[in-house]
Amino acid sequence: MKVDVLVIGAGAAGLMCAIAAGQRGRRVLVVDHANKVGKKILMSGGGRCNFTNLGVTPANYLSANPHFAKSALARYTPADFIALVEKHRIAYHEKELGQLFCDDSSKQIVRMLLDECAAAGVRIETSCAVARVRKTDEGFSVTTVHGEVHAESLVVASGGLSIPSMGASGLGYDLARQFGHAVLPIRAGLVPLTLSGKHQEHYQDLAGVALPLVEARVGKREFRAGMLFTHRGISGPAILQISSYWQPGHDLRIDLLPAHPLLSQDAGAWLNEQRAARPAAELKTVLADLLPKRLAQRLCELWFESRPMRQYREAELHEIGKQLHDWPITASGTEGYRTAEVTLGGVDTDGLSSSTMQSKLVPGLYFIGEVVDVTGWLGGYNFQWAWASGYAAGEVV
Ligand code: FAD
Repeated sequence: MKVDVLVIGAGAAGLMCAIAAGQRGRRVLVVDHANKVGKKILMSGGGRCNFTNLGVTPANYLSANPHFAKSALARYTPADFIALVEKHRIAYHEKELGQLFCDDSSKQIVRMLLDECAAAGVRIETSCAVARVRKTDEGFSVTTVHGEVHAESLVVASGGLSIPSMGASGLGYDLARQFGHAVLPIRAGLVPLTLSGKHQEHYQDLAGVALPLVEARVGKREFRAGMLFTHRGISGPAILQISSYWQPGHDLRIDLLPAHPLLSQDAGAWLNEQRAARPAAELKTVLADLLPKRLAQRLCELWFESRPMRQYREAELHEIGKQLHDWPITASGTEGYRTAEVTLGGVDTDGLSSSTMQSKLVPGLYFIGEVVDVTGWLGGYNFQWAWASGYAAGEVV
């Protein structure tokens, strides 16, 4: 079969690219080895797809070249995607921090993309694995289980390694290497952190205990959001966000009480007020006003024995307060690609045009979406990168 554009991967980026190219009158084929399109879109945002973020800026992305994402993000903005969502009459709402979700279901986003593909004459083949890709004089020759495809332009939109059970594969990285592109080290991002040894023993029975607001810090990077204890370690939005900046050996600190409504100053000052106000109360009881009861109790067992407040010196309570604002927790690793929302690293942006995503080495070859070394924060940023990079390529392929 002969087409103008072959897109490998019917995920967020691939479908957006196909729509933009199809609307320009290009004959587009999208192939995907999974049995249905957009599986990650379907599972995203707890089934409601956090499809963009109103506050997207290049600063919300990790990449060896922080400038790379600027051009594409500026040319296809959250407002552009919102216009598409509204055109399809999909109801949505802002949950928090600019995060936009479908009111009803992420299926609506996949339906919208498929309808746009159909309107643009895009052909999609699922359960279509790619066996081999070759460069030819006319473009590319791609061997798939459905036969040989000849295309002028080849767009690699096969995503990262996160959630292998959803069809993730390393094909995009292999193709990049095959055509001489550098692939920067990849690792799981937006992923729960694991604890091991005594650290795990200390906290594993707190699984399910949640804190509505903590501040997780690695170096100068900090995120304020919720946190959750799991059987294997810690999770929740603050931990997922910081996980993209954390690597084994890095110092991870957690302020358990940033901006707690009961605290006008720091926790140490508040504890000293409590000592004066309720001298007979035990520390663990007092701390349970600030923290989940089971966590307050555990911290007392591990860090500071629980005695009546009157038995503490002022300096001791200040020290306890300091620890609550700067908890050094030793993570041993991450849960890995099995549960990670994204894959950090990937196709080195040095080898790509930032305005078109085209390879600087092989004309007609494009890389878009998560396979590229651009990774967003939690909160709709990754889909916005997929839409924007897909659109950038779709305008020129
Ligand atoms: P993908 O969407 O992963 O698409 C890649 C496609 O390529 C897949 O369909 C796959 O089957 C196909 N493919 C892979 N290998 C091959 C091969 N060898 N041959 C043929 N086809 C292949 N981001 C947000 O912004 N908001 C969210 O709410 C959100 N929630 C998420 C929830 C979960 C559980 C996960 C895992 C991720 C979430 N993300 C979210 C991240 C977001 O899903 C990804 O960043 C985004 O899907 C990347 O788009 P993509 O098109 O590059 O890759």
